[in-house]
Amino acid sequence: NVRVRFCPSPTGIPHVGMVRTALFNWAEARHTGGTFVFRIEDTDAQRDSEESFNQIIEALQWLGIDWDEGVGVGGPDGPYRQSERGQIYADVAQKLLDAGYAYESYSTPEEIEARNEAAGRPKAFGYDGYDRNLSEEQKAAFRAEGRKPALRIKMPDEDITFNDLIRGEITFKAGSVPDYVIVRPNGDPLYTLTNPVDDALMRINVVLRGEDLLSSTPRQIVLYRYLMELGIAKEMPLFGHLPYVMGQGNKKLSKRDPESNLFLHREHGFIKEGLLNYLALLGWSIAPDRDIFSMDEMVEKFDVRDVKANPARFDIDKAISINAEHIRMLEPADFLERSVPYLFRDGVVSADSWDALNERERDILAAAAPLVQPRVRLLGEVAGMVGSLLSDADYIPPADDAKKQLKDSAGAVLDLAIAALDSVPESSWRTDTLHETLNKALVEDGGYKPRLAFGPVRVAMSGRRVSPPLFESMEIVGKKITLERLRGLRE
Ligand code: GLU
Repeated sequence: NVRVRFCPSPTGIPHVGMVRTALFNWAEARHTGGTFVFRIEDTDAQRDSEESFNQIIEALQWLGIDWDEGVGVGGPDGPYRQSERGQIYADVAQKLLDAGYAYESYSTPEEIEARNEAAGRPKAFGYDGYDRNLSEEQKAAFRAEGRKPALRIKMPDEDITFNDLIRGEITFKAGSVPDYVIVRPNGDPLYTLTNPVDDALMRINVVLRGEDLLSSTPRQIVLYRYLMELGIAKEMPLFGHLPYVMGQGNKKLSKRDPESNLFLHREHGFIKEGLLNYLALLGWSIAPDRDIFSMDEMVEKFDVRDVKANPARFDIDKAISINAEHIRMLEPADFLERSVPYLFRDGVVSADSWDALNERERDILAAAAPLVQPRVRLLGEVAGMVGSLLSDADYIPPADDAKKQLKDSAGAVLDLAIAALDSVPESSWRTDTLHETLNKALVEDGGYKPRLAFGPVRVAMSGRRVSPPLFESMEIVGKKITLERLRGLRE
């Protein structure tokens, strides 16, 4: 039974890399029928926040990444927030100390540096193992000075090799990883301890995480061996390190990059299906010639061994075009329901849910859906498309780029259009008649090229250069408002 976990530290807004890790773990669990554990690594009170904790949960819930054991749902190995597991870490640390796998270290950073300098070792050498063999007298002397010890793990003097599920065999040379701190002098346990201890206690057997954590793997393997000796861990987990996500300029996408902010993508109008599909492509593909798929399809096909080791590039244009495909696949009613919060935010409807809209709004949106749905790539674009249809304004001031489009002939064109449309009876006010009427009046009889003929009419109707299809729009807003808007622009 595969047991994977997602164990973010709640620092900052959920970011693309974090969610990709969650998604791949989830897909691995769902594909194998295994268990997905969700734990929160909040042992750093300085950096962790409740706000970030809530945002991570909100992100997972929004995306539909569900977990079987962990925060909120409970399970046999709780609590699932590390801030509530202090006693567990203290007990394990004591056992490691008693067994001689960990030792008390009194050296200050300044002393370590001074020793390295004196011995001609580079700064990057790190800790030199000085406290490994302190005598009881020496320790007592340090304590008498008022010093408190950190706890360090003894790294064995041998190569550490493991078989990464994604990268193949990886070896860390003997002596390349110094003895490292697991408990601070003030008693605070560090990630180096809490993460493998919880993986052991929660019986995690596949660890999938970002490449940035590769350097902690040899340390965790050694600690795991000790935990196995102590009977705390049953088996060494398998490790797979997901490739870096690169942003603009081929630099690693940083948490501070706006492009990495998950909620910003949601604000722009990514739907979860589109965003998940795109995130899945950051290191994995379903087939060589295929970009678009559902999460059901991903679950069916996902195998972590197929994840590529080379860095993935975050390409926002590609993400948006994938999102557009998923928007097109929505049922029209679903499309409208999901659009309404964006429309409300942008001030073009009266409420933030479909059911709370008035009848007029619903009628117009239902009529507009087939025009708009194939033409937007993000839900944030819907308001611009339907705003002029929902408005009962008799004049829509043209946007600057639309104004520029109006040529000298615009006035004459509008006059012809007004006269022709005025004679169309209400009962024939339909897309096809409107198209015929204007085409005859402006192009055939008037002699204008279609662009010159319909451009001003389009600007009058929507104030925009790009709008939903013109004749359909005129049908939706009706004769009265159509004529008012044409006359409004004419003046
Ligand atoms: N809390 C760690 C982080 O957010 C998790 C690392 C891991 O998956 O082992 O980076």
